[in-house]
Amino acid sequence: MATPTNPADIARETLKQMMARRLAPSPDNYRAIFNEIAGVTENSTETSTARELKSLLLLLPKETPAQQGLARQIDQAHKNRDWDAYRRLLTDFIREHSGDSDLVWGELIAGFLQQWEIRQSGLTQAKKRESLDRVLSVSGKNSALLFGRLQNLIRSWATNEANADNIEVAENTPPSAAANAAAALPGAPGSSSRAGEILAELRASLVFTLETIVTSLLKDEPESAAQAMTFAKAAREAATPKAVQDLLAEIRRFAFSLEFVAEDRSELRAGLLKLLQLMIENTSELVLDDHWLSGQVEIVRQIVSQPVNLRMIDDAERCMKEVIFKQGQLKHSLTETRNALKQMLTGFVDHLADFADSTSDYHDKIEHCAEKISQADDISQLEDVLEEVTREMRVIQDNAQRSRDDLRATQQRVAAAEERVGQLQNELDLASKLVRHDHLTGAFNRRGLDEIYETETCRAKRRRLPLCIALLDIDNFKKLNDSIGHDAGDAALIHLVTVIRETLRPQDTLARFGGEEFIILLPETTVEDADKALVRVQRELTKRYFLTNNEKLLITFSAGVTEVRPDDTQASAVKRADEAAYTAKNSGKNRVVVG
Ligand code: GH3
Ligand code: MG
Ligand code: MG
Repeated sequence: MATPTNPADIARETLKQMMARRLAPSPDNYRAIFNEIAGVTENSTETSTARELKSLLLLLPKETPAQQGLARQIDQAHKNRDWDAYRRLLTDFIREHSGDSDLVWGELIAGFLQQWEIRQSGLTQAKKRESLDRVLSVSGKNSALLFGRLQNLIRSWATNEANADNIEVAENTPPSAAANAAAALPGAPGSSSRAGEILAELRASLVFTLETIVTSLLKDEPESAAQAMTFAKAAREAATPKAVQDLLAEIRRFAFSLEFVAEDRSELRAGLLKLLQLMIENTSELVLDDHWLSGQVEIVRQIVSQPVNLRMIDDAERCMKEVIFKQGQLKHSLTETRNALKQMLTGFVDHLADFADSTSDYHDKIEHCAEKISQADDISQLEDVLEEVTREMRVIQDNAQRSRDDLRATQQRVAAAEERVGQLQNELDLASKLVRHDHLTGAFNRRGLDEIYETETCRAKRRRLPLCIALLDIDNFKKLNDSIGHDAGDAALIHLVTVIRETLRPQDTLARFGGEEFIILLPETTVEDADKALVRVQRELTKRYFLTNNEKLLITFSAGVTEVRPDDTQASAVKRADEAAYTAKNSGKNRVVVG
């Protein structure tokens, strides 16, 4: 019979031979006969099996530190031809890899919820959320890894040591994996110098963070800032991993104490805001009769009732300044008027008193003269009395004349006061014109734009961020006005402003530049993105028609957009945007052109 080559035939022949030779049915006998029939030696079989096992090793996933440690150990067992250890480690590996079913997610989630809801001192909800986000983002789709990290996170909350770095270190170096990693390090060529490089980089980042970032955040806490600088110095000098590790432990404690500072600050901010709200509400009570003022106060109130950011505080400050200015004007005018009235009244009282005095004096004198007349014996005596009467009458006349003059002067003073009040009224009207908002649309007016342009260009230069400016002009607005009327035209302007505001970001500024022309400032935006933002507004307008008299009207605009350059003035930047808008008009309208 020909030598079989097929493994099934070899196996059948092996069994026949074992029976024919009356061999005991042991695995060794079976292997020996099988090899004899197949014509292979023991050694070559082992080599090919070892090769298979080696290739299997390469296929093993090595995602978690535990898996990496086991894979290294399996590799070692393979090199040592220690097949018992190989089998044991592989079993461990399989358990580790398919450990999902062993993970008690229910308990973990219950524990998580418990720790999430408990209030630990110094551990804010925001901080917990931040650590959780971190764990979720770094664990990817690996559920075993996620499970382990969540466990560590819950443990750290429970022991109230929440610190994202702490968690990271802990979960990356579970005891067995850490030991394996440490054991593997010296053997791996170049790994210690790489570790040295990483340590140096970490130290440099730590020094930078402490010296530049932490100290600037702690401007109002000089003691903590000094402590951060001390840590930075220590980090610079920490030469060994052990020294770095010790320092990190101290920094962790420091960070923990800073959480209290952060909480204090946020409480302080909330308190200040409450105070501001209270003040604004009361101001509005005081000036309720002044329609314009209560409107301004309402704007400030709305601004501070939203979540605060720097931009909103700027806006609130601007509005508040307007209120203060108007208050100052009103107070001034009231004081002036009151003084004028006081002077007038004082004058009248004085005159009345003078009159009373002089007339009663006069009556006394006349009575005295009448007595003299009745008692007069001859005409010469009467002459004296007449002279006296004439003299008294002259005094009365003089008094009356003086009173008339005084009254006329007082009248003139009142007229002057009236004129001053009128003048103040004009100044108030002017003050209203100084307002930063356009009354029709609520967008900023030119004055508001000037101020914001100044702030935004400074901010952009300081932070080296792009700032774009766009000029937008409604298409065929005259025709629209003519067909639907001026009031509906006004409503169309308001509609456009609403759509722009709701489509752009809150930090973008919209200002009414002229009748149907608007300027938009887009901070932290490249010209490509600004272009896209305006196209987005155009698209939004095609979805949100302007409704008037049950008629749907499509409002379109042409716009020019440009990036503000470092050497630009507001006028030169606007001019470039205007020229680009002009090109947009000339090339068919309803488009955005970059200039
Ligand atoms: P184009 O597409 O070339 O921009 O044409 P247009 O008609 O939009 O531009 P034009 O400058 O000829 O006319 C602008 C019109 O905008 C004229 C004016 O009646 C109208 N307008 C300006 N301010 C207001 C406003 O406050 N309310 C209303 N209803 N219309 C205004
Ligand atoms: Mg125009
Ligand atoms: Mg127009």
